[in-house]
Amino acid sequence: MTEPTLAGPAIAADAMQSVADRRRMQLQHQVLEEEANCWWCSGPVDQTLPGTTHPWGPVVTHIRPLWAGGDSLARDNSHLAHRSCHASYCHQLRAAAQQQ
Ligand SMILES: [Zn+2]
Repeated sequence: MTEPTLAGPAIAADAMQSVADRRRMQLQHQVLEEEANCWWCSGPVDQTLPGTTHPWGPVVTHIRPLWAGGDSLARDNSHLAHRSCHASYCHQLRAAAQQQ
């Protein structure tokens, strides 16, 4: 009798996770390459700004947010946005969701 081990499934899950991460990174690069304007305000996005800290820096925004079941790997759900616009959009969506 062979003992079931967790090694197989755990390794497979790790591999799938890294594949998803790689696809997400590729998609982010694709969005940054293909788009130049903010999805929410249509203004130009300066991609030289740090998207992680600067309010007008570039981020990839999801039209249908991930917490609402949006697909982070779908190209048509992912668009370029200002960090600030993305944040206020998320804030509005959450507020609207809480009122329902
Ligand atoms: Zn914007």
